[in-house]
Amino acid sequence: MKQVGFFQSIRLKFIIIITLLLLFPIQVIGAYFSQQLETKLKENFEESITNNVDILNIQLEQAFSKERTEDGQTLEEEVQSILSDFNADNITELLVINSNMRVIGATEDTDQSKVGKRLPLPEIQRTLMLGGAEPDTKVNQQGHRIMVRTYPIYQEKNNQDKENVEQQDVVVGVIYIKASLEGVYGQLQDINRIFANGTFLGVSISVLLGIVIARTITKPITEMRKHAKIMGAGDFSQKVNVYGQDEIGQLAVSFNELNDKLKISQATTEGERRKLSSVLSNMTEGVMATDHTGAIILMNEPASRLLGKEIEDVQGESLLNVLSINDRLDNITDLHDKESIIIDFSEGDQQLLLKASFTVVQYEMEEMNGYITVLSDVTEQEKIERERREFVANVSHELRTPLTTMKSYLETLTEGAWQDKEIAPRFLDVTQNETERMIRLVNDLLQLSKMDNKDYKLHKEKVNFIGFFRTVAERFEINQDDHIHFEHHLPDKEVIVWIDKDKMTQVLDNIISNAIKYSPEGGTITFHLEVKKQQQKLHISISDEGVGIPKEKLEKIFERFYRVDRARSRNLGGTGLGLAISREMIDAHGGEIWADSKEGEGTKVTFTLPLLKQPQGDEE
Ligand code: ADP
Repeated sequence: MKQVGFFQSIRLKFIIIITLLLLFPIQVIGAYFSQQLETKLKENFEESITNNVDILNIQLEQAFSKERTEDGQTLEEEVQSILSDFNADNITELLVINSNMRVIGATEDTDQSKVGKRLPLPEIQRTLMLGGAEPDTKVNQQGHRIMVRTYPIYQEKNNQDKENVEQQDVVVGVIYIKASLEGVYGQLQDINRIFANGTFLGVSISVLLGIVIARTITKPITEMRKHAKIMGAGDFSQKVNVYGQDEIGQLAVSFNELNDKLKISQATTEGERRKLSSVLSNMTEGVMATDHTGAIILMNEPASRLLGKEIEDVQGESLLNVLSINDRLDNITDLHDKESIIIDFSEGDQQLLLKASFTVVQYEMEEMNGYITVLSDVTEQEKIERERREFVANVSHELRTPLTTMKSYLETLTEGAWQDKEIAPRFLDVTQNETERMIRLVNDLLQLSKMDNKDYKLHKEKVNFIGFFRTVAERFEINQDDHIHFEHHLPDKEVIVWIDKDKMTQVLDNIISNAIKYSPEGGTITFHLEVKKQQQKLHISISDEGVGIPKEKLEKIFERFYRVDRARSRNLGGTGLGLAISREMIDAHGGEIWADSKEGEGTKVTFTLPLLKQPQGDEE
């Protein structure tokens, strides 16, 4: 979250508002006060001047009105003597002017050169004519403000005059005064300065108070802001302080309540998420969820393993693309009609068949929300199913061939060939052979079916394999009238193994009879038994000098019904199940079986058996 700069902060706005609210009335009051004060001070000043001048005026009225004799004091002299006694502060210039506007006297402080000169100033003229003039304020050469005032000197009225009320006042002279207003303005300036200082102090205190008050408002807001940030990061463990019961306090209380509710709902959501995640990851099936457009939004671990793709790689990808079924389905909505699809993910030898089952996620009254796909590995299942189908087909085929042969031979016999002494015994011989082969086939099938049964058990016993092998091999050797030679490479000592003798006899019968079947006339069959001490195993190999088996088919000869040369094997009476049964039996004994061969040179079939160290109890 971005930090709020000081210039954008509520604190600054608050301080500015407080300052402006304070400054505005102070300014108005200040202006009014200053103006009123100036007027009042000026009035007082004028009054004090007038008071001073009034006494002087009475004296001057008397002097102007006095009858003058030749030898007596002149008006000018008397005026001067009156003025010499006059003393008033602030009056910088005082002139007494007669009706001819000539200066007849001046105070000591005044420029004496003006005495005797005419001073035809408009205000003097006005006073002489009208008995008064408005006071005027001027600025002198030194830049000082001065007040200029004129006072009329009236002709003193005698008793006769006083009675004659209607007689008008006659102005006989003028007192012209200049008084310095600097004292008044100085005083005003001092007061204004005090006012300004007071304002400054008041505003400063208000700003400080504003800062403190703004802090009390912004502090909880800032705290809530920080807290909201922490909440946003998923931490609901803290609470904001409630500083009071005002609106901000109420907001803090509501904020804490919200925090508590979010904490509970987050814990619930988290719990549900964990449950879902644990269910999903502990499932053996892969699960994928998509939105309504078919874009993948969730995939569990098993699905990721089955598809060999990480969730980050497929998130947002189309389900149809990821499952490589876009050639089978044009649109994701086609899934509505599909319950499941088998998808082949095989690569090279690695077989992988996945069954994808689809469910449409739809809430009541709402639009379609998405799809859930469950993936399960059906490779093994499909393999078993395919093998089962192949097996049934093979069995049917194997049984049908001898039956067809027998049918045609028997038909020929029925049609009259039975009377033919030459054909009849041959035909009957063929049908007998076919019957025997069928019996062998059914027996082999029964044997395999028994071994497929889970309850199938071996009856193992402690056996010296050398002696046992000799007995089995002898049966074959006796039956071969020097057509085939046998060579033995057997250890001298006893080799003890833990085997089911019947089953092992069957294994050896199968391998040795194959060796004889595929050996050429006069060929040699070699038996090689060797103890591999390190591996604690006995290796038994039976080699012939027969037709051999192509390299790529060496593994396949152990599969059910597999024959390298089908016709040849059938002619030799084989069922194609001998080696398959042998492998099952060797597996059950804890050994391995394989074949090595060179085409045209011969085949060597080898199997191993674990050696017995200590005799063990019967394994039932
Ligand atoms: P069959 O009954 O056909 O012999 P087996 O399961 O015993 O069936 O053998 C499977 C196939 O393996 C035979 O059909 C044959 O093609 C081949 N085979 C087995 N042993 C030999 C061998 N010694 N030499 C050549 N081919 C052999």
